[in-house]
Amino acid sequence: MLIETFIRKQLRLKAHTVTKVEETAEHMLVFIDRLGQRLLRCGVCRRRCREVQDVRKQRVWKDLSLRKLPLKLCYRPRRVKCPRCGVRVEDFPWAEPWARVTTALANAVAQLARELSWQGTARQYRLNWKSVATIVKRAVQYGLKNRSRPPVHVLGIDEVSRRKGQVYLTVVYDLERRVLLWVGQDRTEEAVRPFFTEAMGRRRCHTLQVICMDMWAPYAKLVRQHAPQAQILFDRFHIVKHLNEAVEEVRRSEMRRLSQKEKVAFKRIRWLLLKNPWNLTNDQKERLSTLVRWNTPIIRAYYLKEVFQLFWEYHQPKRAHDHLEKWMRSAMRSRLEPFKKFVRMLRNHLDGVLAWTQCRISSGAVEGMNNKIKSISHRSFGFRTAEHFMAAIYHCCARLPLPIER
Ligand SMILES: [Zn+2]
Repeated sequence: MLIETFIRKQLRLKAHTVTKVEETAEHMLVFIDRLGQRLLRCGVCRRRCREVQDVRKQRVWKDLSLRKLPLKLCYRPRRVKCPRCGVRVEDFPWAEPWARVTTALANAVAQLARELSWQGTARQYRLNWKSVATIVKRAVQYGLKNRSRPPVHVLGIDEVSRRKGQVYLTVVYDLERRVLLWVGQDRTEEAVRPFFTEAMGRRRCHTLQVICMDMWAPYAKLVRQHAPQAQILFDRFHIVKHLNEAVEEVRRSEMRRLSQKEKVAFKRIRWLLLKNPWNLTNDQKERLSTLVRWNTPIIRAYYLKEVFQLFWEYHQPKRAHDHLEKWMRSAMRSRLEPFKKFVRMLRNHLDGVLAWTQCRISSGAVEGMNNKIKSISHRSFGFRTAEHFMAAIYHCCARLPLPIER
């Protein structure tokens, strides 16, 4: 079989054909022409058109490599007279209308960009960073338009920071399917409203049953407005995070007061305190029990945290409620300011905290998605613009379909 025939078959050309293939040091140039008088399609509506208006100047598309040599397709596009759209550039079976790479190459790049940084992907395919960015953004556009949208029952709303603790984005997950639904700039009520009004719409908001979020977040009002039937759940992952922060705050302020000798004893206590007691080794338990005898605020903080964690084990709402009330009273008496602050927050959101006994949404769901986004940001050393970061998040977390290769 001739190489021309091979490439024609690979590209699945019907109204076009490969006239010749030239090899240079860096490329394989594949020249394509119209096949006889076969009908070409309109680039806008893809209808077959009888008349050709004119022939434009040659365009070049990058394609996948044949062994080591990248293919370049060369073709002079025709403009057709479409009965519906008027004079338009024809439809190319190998590429999207304005793309400078073939759909096959674009999809290969997009797939790799889900695993590697855009820089790394560019290197693999000998493209520049900008081309990869364009390909990913186009793939996301296509994917958002063509993704499947089954009804959503369990929603997770969270925020991620783009630069350390600086610029925030709001992310919305479908926690049942573990898939990202929406990303928006900023974390204000105004910024997230379009998710409910535009992305979801009133009809899809009706199916929402549980919405997980952080107590600190400003989203609760939106939920009450747009999905009043849904139960708000302040999820385990975030509550534990705040609890750990309270322990850490106590530890830090106490460390400042301790003598040098005491400091040494507490030196590596930080992770001992954050660890779950059943994960401690005997030696670690020993060290901890020495410290317990000293009865410092650090140890009080540690025990408050441990006792709170029992809350997750209750199945009966009444018992869970009693446990929490008791815990909040003892935390208020603890003379530890960070814990008092935590209790005040719990008090204001008690309904959404107690909802845990009714709908146990695993903390892993939110945490896992957050970690994925963090790793996207890390491998690219942060994105300079929110637009790029958002495209990367959609691309890696929303399970979007890629354009179909014709
Ligand atoms: Zn048309």
